Amino acid sequence: MFTHFRTQGFFLKKQDRGEANQIFTIFTKDFGKLKILGKAIRKIKSKLRQSAEIFYLSEIEFIQGKNYKILTDALAVEKFKNLRKNPQKLAIAYKIIEVADLFIAEEEKNDEIWRLINEVFGELNNPSLQFAGCNLQYYYFLWNFLSILGYKPELYFCRVCAKKLLPETFWFLPHEGGIVCWRCFKNFNGKDKKEAKEISVDAVKILRLLLKQDWKILKSLKISSDVLENIEKISSSYLKFLKTI
Ligand SMILES: [Zn+2]
Repeated sequence: MFTHFRTQGFFLKKQDRGEANQIFTIFTKDFGKLKILGKAIRKIKSKLRQSAEIFYLSEIEFIQGKNYKILTDALAVEKFKNLRKNPQKLAIAYKIIEVADLFIAEEEKNDEIWRLINEVFGELNNPSLQFAGCNLQYYYFLWNFLSILGYKPELYFCRVCAKKLLPETFWFLPHEGGIVCWRCFKNFNGKDKKEAKEISVDAVKILRLLLKQDWKILKSLKISSDVLENIEKISSSYLKFLKTI
């Protein structure tokens, strides 16, 4: 007899396998990220099809087969319908899923990541959330997610001289894991200097608020496109660096 495992899972990815099968990458509440085979799931008659879709939060049941875990039951709990109707929100959701899939290790339960994913998708699904807000949801996810994984950036003290950062010119250095003051930055050269990105005082403030999860203040702010652009540059350069380690 097979043991049937039940848990909630968030569908991150699906890939066709053979004529009718699919392999799902599911981030589960109780077992972390799993690869689970959906047997004959692409057949019209498959009852699992309705509840096994990307960005679905479903109650799932699986067994451990010889080579794969096999999906034996799925029931959609939340289909995030509002998110699906909006192409911009959908694009953000795909960005989140891509980062999540890339950095989450398999078969490691993580309650903090579970909570974060559910929170961010819940917000993205909120019909009153506008596009500028969904960008912020992405950065909220990204920086908190990286912090949970142990890559929390230093945003208060210079990474080199350890002095408290005053509102002046700062640089974000991905390989230093945070901000360096301009005095220390003068001594950098070559590749280190090339990879550094100037970060504005306002962008630092937003990143701090994102990491404090202070939505009360974040929601009341009008964030300029310059600041958002700056945050985008810093985020992608940090992500690019973390992908290499
Ligand atoms: Zn310094």
